[in-house]
Amino acid sequence: MPVIHPNLPLIDLHRHLDGSVRLETILDVGLQYNLPLPAKDLEGLRPFVQVTTPVPGILEFFTKFEWMVGILVNYDICRRIAYENVQDAQREGIDYIELRFSPAFMAQPHGLDPAGIVEAVVDGVAAGQRDFGVRANLIGIISRTFGVAAGWRELDALLSQRDHLVALDLAGDEVNYPGELFVEHFKRGREAGWAITVHAGEAGGSTAVWQALRELGATRIGHAVRAVDDPALMAYLAENRIGVEMNLTSNVQTSTVPDYARHPLKTMLEHNILATINTDDPGISAIDLPFEYRVAATEAGLSQTQVTQAQQNALDLAFLSPEEKAALAAQKRQSI
Ligand SMILES: [Zn+2]
Repeated sequence: MPVIHPNLPLIDLHRHLDGSVRLETILDVGLQYNLPLPAKDLEGLRPFVQVTTPVPGILEFFTKFEWMVGILVNYDICRRIAYENVQDAQREGIDYIELRFSPAFMAQPHGLDPAGIVEAVVDGVAAGQRDFGVRANLIGIISRTFGVAAGWRELDALLSQRDHLVALDLAGDEVNYPGELFVEHFKRGREAGWAITVHAGEAGGSTAVWQALRELGATRIGHAVRAVDDPALMAYLAENRIGVEMNLTSNVQTSTVPDYARHPLKTMLEHNILATINTDDPGISAIDLPFEYRVAATEAGLSQTQVTQAQQNALDLAFLSPEEKAALAAQKRQSI
């Protein structure tokens, strides 16, 4: 039996489009706009952009993003990387993808207007859907690392395209900028009709996951690796059908877990938690979704049944209506 079940949609629920910029695009734009690249060819550039061996912590991993957002010199380039993200999803055999992005983070290197970035990303993803036939939705991120006031400005930029986003997320430095600072932002996001997913329990502990669930209104959690330290939380996640967006290679590379074998994905599934397999920042990690499915089986110890369960979980947890999920599943069955 193949690792990816052919009759189920292949879905990525956790991918940062600003962490999924092609090496070729960085080189192309860098040369065209005469940007200060560390190398003038793909192989020279690769070690600066991609992580090939684990780094000591998540903040060091974040420095790799600089080469990705560093090429965002105008809105056309923002639109291009959004469009290419959808094409890359198609090349990976993905049927449905939720792409997330932080407009403030993308705006910073060249002083762009975050609202203009949101508009360009919405436009690029819409064009990608039309051209490549991959269903895609967008999740807006508040970058916690910029602080509370900047969080409001970023939220306003996201709200300018409210109907084109499905959810709100919180990402960045979890330890120094805890979720408690952003309770009011997320209240406003929920009032706008968005679903909530929050990065928690990656660099922070299980209390950060509790906080995201109780105070931010999250129905899905990004990473949640540290939840395994807390039996009450594990039971809560299972009972309340909270989605867990796991990212194997990313967690190994940031030293969130020591290796694939000790990643809690398998344990989560054994506890009937709706855990899923995702890519996080494939442009930095130099992976794709089929690779993550393979290592789930070969390195993280999942049985074929558990891999298939994770694939099914992604459909159940997608920020889509029941009708859209049914259509996605039916389309997959018919294509065989
Ligand atoms: Zn993430």
